[in-house]
Amino acid sequence: MRFVVIGGGPAGSNAAMHAARAGVDVTLVERDIIGGAANLRDCIPSKAMIATGGAMAFVDRSSGMGLDPIQGHLDLPGLRHRIDSIVTRLEDGLVSILRSQGVEMVAGEGRLDGPHHVVVETEGGARRVAADAVLVATGSRPRVPDWARPDGERVLSTRQAYPPAVLPEHLVVVGSGVTGVEFVHMFASLGCEVTLIVSRQQVLPRKDPEVAAVLEEDFLRRGVRLLKGARAVGVEIGVGGVVVHCDDGRAAAGSHMLLAVGSLPNFEGLGLESAGVVVDDAGYVPINHHCQTNVPHIYAAGDLSGKLPLSSVASMQGRKIAQHVLGGHSVAHRHLNYDKAASAIFTEPEIADVGLAEADAFAEGRKIRVTKVPFAASAKALINDDPRGFVKIISDPATGVVLGGSIVGQNAAELISVLAVAVTAGLRASDIAESILVHPALAEALAEAAD
Ligand SMILES: Cc1cc2nc3c(=O)[nH]c(=O)nc-3n(C[C@H](O)[C@H](O)[C@H](O)COP(=O)(O)OP(=O)(O)OC[C@H]3O[C@@H](n4cnc5c(N)ncnc54)[C@H](O)[C@@H]3O)c2cc1C
Repeated sequence: MRFVVIGGGPAGSNAAMHAARAGVDVTLVERDIIGGAANLRDCIPSKAMIATGGAMAFVDRSSGMGLDPIQGHLDLPGLRHRIDSIVTRLEDGLVSILRSQGVEMVAGEGRLDGPHHVVVETEGGARRVAADAVLVATGSRPRVPDWARPDGERVLSTRQAYPPAVLPEHLVVVGSGVTGVEFVHMFASLGCEVTLIVSRQQVLPRKDPEVAAVLEEDFLRRGVRLLKGARAVGVEIGVGGVVVHCDDGRAAAGSHMLLAVGSLPNFEGLGLESAGVVVDDAGYVPINHHCQTNVPHIYAAGDLSGKLPLSSVASMQGRKIAQHVLGGHSVAHRHLNYDKAASAIFTEPEIADVGLAEADAFAEGRKIRVTKVPFAASAKALINDDPRGFVKIISDPATGVVLGGSIVGQNAAELISVLAVAVTAGLRASDIAESILVHPALAEALAEAAD
């Protein structure tokens, strides 16, 4: 069995690693960075910058912790070095694991050449590899609207915004989804003035309004200007900065503009048509529960598959594809449930959720039990000098089974794991409530909400 994987992001590298571990002959083709462009060039640098911003915010709050006020000045070259070293370390670690599992890694641009061959354009020329199974996991790139072209100077795509050579004095962010608000938070905490153009009446339009309200309050407290109900339609670039024009006649001036308006799948040039693989109108490759395309031995995963664009989801798809390639169909089917994927937004406070959302339950007319506990009553939140936010658990009133939940507050991205396990395993709220947790810990609020 020869399995050829095009794209070494979380989807591709996990599929390669798990299949090779089980004895499959695997070739992994990557044109840029093992670990993934979106993963190691977007996800990791953004979180590293947010961590530095968080450290600065902590320094700002030092007097609240009983310290003399201390000064933390940003060291941009130091921050750039830190991001580079994290990315290099992660890439090196992954390469060495893949190598130790026996995965053949080929540097170059891959494409299908008919249903059973992959051609790789390497520095040394083209190489044709035969395949019994193929995975296309080529990820995505930032979407660019037709009214603006990122130049890497004044107009930035999300990939051009870090690590910054100079810090923007005033950043105008277009797009108030998950990526947009993370960038607002990141640059505001590093000391930049920020204006956010919000096309609807709330940031994070798809989230629970109660959750979005906590974030908006924090943005306003930090002086972020919100231009709500406005759609950006044009940008003027001058010597000293930019002016972003909105469809209602309003405008936002700043030193730089950042576009955070979604992503597009990397499907071009993959030779999908030569293998008969169907692509939808938006460029995504439709897949079934096993991540198979319409051509059964050709799989697609990660951002290219148009499911949840998350590194964690891509990794899980990769693992399940490896099982399916090996013949473990039922296992693959059982575990891939996108509705139960946890996700987080790394703002301050952090926002995380999993499973059924309250608004969706109401829209479906479904009976639910909602319990909410604020962190204001948590000893650990007070000790940490950050009592913002809450835990909300949604359960079935008849059975007590946990259906979903949201957490807003410190470490929400870690704490949501408890609810993610409960939702995936079908645990009841009482299973959480009856667990003896650590005291003092933020997780105690989970047990309380579950009670
Ligand atoms: C700013 C930002 C922050 C994010 N933060 C998070 C986060 O905190 N948590 C989270 O879970 N997700 C996050 N995401 C989403 C996450 O990065 C993606 O969902 C994830 O990387 C998708 O994995 P993938 O394997 O599909 O693609 P990628 O990680 O993009 O990997 C695809 C790989 O394929 C390679 N490739 C493409 N075409 C070819 C070809 N023809 N031949 C060879 N190689 C090719 C690319 O070079 C790339 O390395 C973030 C995204 C953005 C934009």
